[in-house]
Amino acid sequence: MDASEFRKRGKEVIDAIADYYENLDQVPPMAAVKPGYLYKLMPHEAPEDPESFDDIQKDIQTKIMPGITHWQSGNFFGWYPSNSSFPAMLGDMYSNMFDVIGFNWLCSPATTELETVVMDWLGKLIGLDKRFLSIKEDGTEGNGGGVIQGSASEAHIVAMLAAKEKALERIKADGSVSEDESDAMRHKMVAYFSDQTHSSGQKGTNIIGCKSHTILTDGKFRLTKTALAAAIEEDKQAGLIPFFVCGTFGTTNTASIDDIPGIADVAAAEHLWYHIDAAYAGASLTCPEFRPLAVGIERADSFNFNPHKWMLTNFDCSAMWVASSTHLTNALGIHREYLPRVKGETAFVKDYRDWQVPLGRRFRALKLWFVMRMYGASGIRAHIREHVRQAKWLEQQLLTDGRFEIMVPVVFGLVVFRIKPSALATSGDVAVKESTVNAANVNYSKRINADGRVFLVGTKLKGVDAVRAAIGSTIGKQENVELLLQVLKQSAADIISQQK
Ligand SMILES: *Cc1c(COP(=O)(O)O)cnc(C)c1O
Repeated sequence: MDASEFRKRGKEVIDAIADYYENLDQVPPMAAVKPGYLYKLMPHEAPEDPESFDDIQKDIQTKIMPGITHWQSGNFFGWYPSNSSFPAMLGDMYSNMFDVIGFNWLCSPATTELETVVMDWLGKLIGLDKRFLSIKEDGTEGNGGGVIQGSASEAHIVAMLAAKEKALERIKADGSVSEDESDAMRHKMVAYFSDQTHSSGQKGTNIIGCKSHTILTDGKFRLTKTALAAAIEEDKQAGLIPFFVCGTFGTTNTASIDDIPGIADVAAAEHLWYHIDAAYAGASLTCPEFRPLAVGIERADSFNFNPHKWMLTNFDCSAMWVASSTHLTNALGIHREYLPRVKGETAFVKDYRDWQVPLGRRFRALKLWFVMRMYGASGIRAHIREHVRQAKWLEQQLLTDGRFEIMVPVVFGLVVFRIKPSALATSGDVAVKESTVNAANVNYSKRINADGRVFLVGTKLKGVDAVRAAIGSTIGKQENVELLLQVLKQSAADIISQQK
């Protein structure tokens, strides 16, 4: 394909993308294919001779499209949103154009420097404390800074690696511990999570080879200061070495918020690295009215949220900040002669390869830059506020209906609910068994998805089955949530009448 052919085909692809988005709400959000469907449709070897673009384009429509789950549909309410936007896509096209591997400054100066600039922009946009910024107010280099990771899971793992480095440094500083002994101590190190922490905490534990302690959350699914302090005390008694704690601002299950300042107190007293996972809800902090919920994040060692979830930026874009980059770069910086560093490192000359697991990295700052410029802070805030409004509207409708129970009050765009036990009781039947209620609610989420017009997922909260509707699609409107409500009510009526 030469440049003139690319010019023609590229325009066709852009048209196909625009058509897709214009008609997205007309198709069911969930793919209706069976496992293995594609293998049957495909040749079993790559073609020997070149094929035409037209043939491939046809296969996109006939073979690929039927197996796509339309995450960008306004009727997709599953998991958490994974926002795309046209500005982000345009930015990413430029990233594809340059296709640089920006592991250090010299690889492509603009790639590194734009990331430093946009991560400071974004940090300020969410009201992050100055200690997390790369450039101080006087224009000199700060100790902290931001980096774009591929995912919140990577950020979590990277934070744990830095934490381990910091803990080992503290142990060795004592002078009485040899190198071999301190290495052996890895297996005595304990990381703290709650029963609601994202699975990436466990993955990090496996990668590092440390221990983990999962702490039960309170009745509102929060990790509390007292529970954390008790867990640490127990482990210290057993000769273990506490080194890391993850607090979550907006958990995956219910969007609950841990005791952010309380955990900071314990982390400081016990010398733990304090990582805050705000993968989903961090985007809300672009709106000042949500910041009182996040008091205490200024005391964290690392903070992370995903613009690729609820802030209009196509996957992958996970924003991570550290208050001090020393332990991160000590943990991950490896020198080779063929990876030259630029001498006299300033804030504008970061070697981001030392801030992440892989060496190579994409020019992801471009799409974030496009989003922040083309929406502006006001556009981003309007996006967040509209979804929160829609979620609270849905919560109110479900409460008014009388057949539903809201499991946790709506704060962001997530509504977690179930058909309440009393709605499932046959007349004269005082109490329905909890297992019956659970089974009915498991069937309820299946029933909703079987309808096909919307998609969502069920979950289990401390033994109670419930349904999650995550509102936050870039193209999602009030009409989509009205359709959701209609399906929710109809499916609930079906389940209740089956029950009786
Ligand atoms: C979605 C989510 C993650 C994982 O995000 P990835 O970027 O897919 O790794 C981590 N933590 C929380 C709280 C999440 O909701």
